[in-house]
Amino acid sequence: MKNIFVLLLTVIVISCTSSVNSPAEPEVKKPTNIIFLIGDGMGLSAVSTGFYFGDQPSVFKRFQEIGLQQTSSASHKVTDSAASGTALATGTLTYNGAVGMDTAKVVLQNIAEVVTAMGWSTGVVATSTITHATPASFYAHVPQRGMEEEIAVQLIESEIDFFAGGGRDKFNVRKDSANLLPLAADLGFTIDTTGLAVPGSLKGDQKYGFLPQSEAMIPMIYGRGDFLPEATVLAISHLSQNQEGFFLMVEGSQIDWAGHSNDAKYLIGEMLDFEKVIAAALDFAEKDGNTLVVVTADHETGGYALGPEVPKEGQSSYSDYNIIEPVFATGGHTATLIPVFAFGPGAEKFKGIYKNTEINHKMKALVETK
Ligand code: MG
Ligand code: ZN
Repeated sequence: MKNIFVLLLTVIVISCTSSVNSPAEPEVKKPTNIIFLIGDGMGLSAVSTGFYFGDQPSVFKRFQEIGLQQTSSASHKVTDSAASGTALATGTLTYNGAVGMDTAKVVLQNIAEVVTAMGWSTGVVATSTITHATPASFYAHVPQRGMEEEIAVQLIESEIDFFAGGGRDKFNVRKDSANLLPLAADLGFTIDTTGLAVPGSLKGDQKYGFLPQSEAMIPMIYGRGDFLPEATVLAISHLSQNQEGFFLMVEGSQIDWAGHSNDAKYLIGEMLDFEKVIAAALDFAEKDGNTLVVVTADHETGGYALGPEVPKEGQSSYSDYNIIEPVFATGGHTATLIPVFAFGPGAEKFKGIYKNTEINHKMKALVETK
């Protein structure tokens, strides 16, 4: 009996001691840089591309932390890229069509503006026009996404330090006949209208814009080459000169357009290109150790599915299950949940199932409470 009493006492003492000494929540390491990669229209079947159509292992296998996000906007169950871009950039739900404004058309602060106030450098890169809804959500504030000429004005007046993408005509072949390129120079930008620069050649305290094509960049299947991964590497090499930190958003814009056209070859080309961008970001983050990489989409497009070979006339309903023949359910966007991949300091915060706005809240919480 005495022995049992001693044993009981020992257990109580140990449990009390351990509860006193056990540390609270382990400290989350804070990133000093964030690279945010958005595959426009990239659902789970698009993410699966490298597993079936790639010639090397899928880059998505390099992520340890994975979540799911729900994408509906304030106005519609199926979002458009302006509302979802704004949700990701600002953390606030808005109506389809809005860029950087809420449902009352009040200007919302985006994450690029938040980190600029902390001394970070910022950049946006896309294969659409650089004034398209997704990249615009990270620097512009307009009630309708179609106002691309106004968005171009807001880009050169913004605090963005680096941009690269299509859409030069929005700057110098405009309905209002204005030429924004000299104005951009007055506002501190060095603009290159021919191509990209060599990484390492850009001065840390300067602002740069690269607009090599008059309209959107051409699709991969028509020979775009490595513009997007090269622009990403150039942006990282430029922005990382700022010791305070940097935020970079890169969009694989045309995954969405391939989905709208129900064109699997187009989609696969854009996805394999976007995988190179992800690999470049992860390579930098692995070496750097202080960079958070978050990869997601704004929504899914096309209801893209990796179905088996479609049965031919006279065949039974099932055909060869060793042949993948992608199919599409719609020419529009869909409401399916979207995967979120995170790597680096704070990546574990992106586990779970949450609203698209939460991605922004999580990023801000990681940088603001330093
Ligand atoms: Mg887009
Ligand atoms: Zn779309």
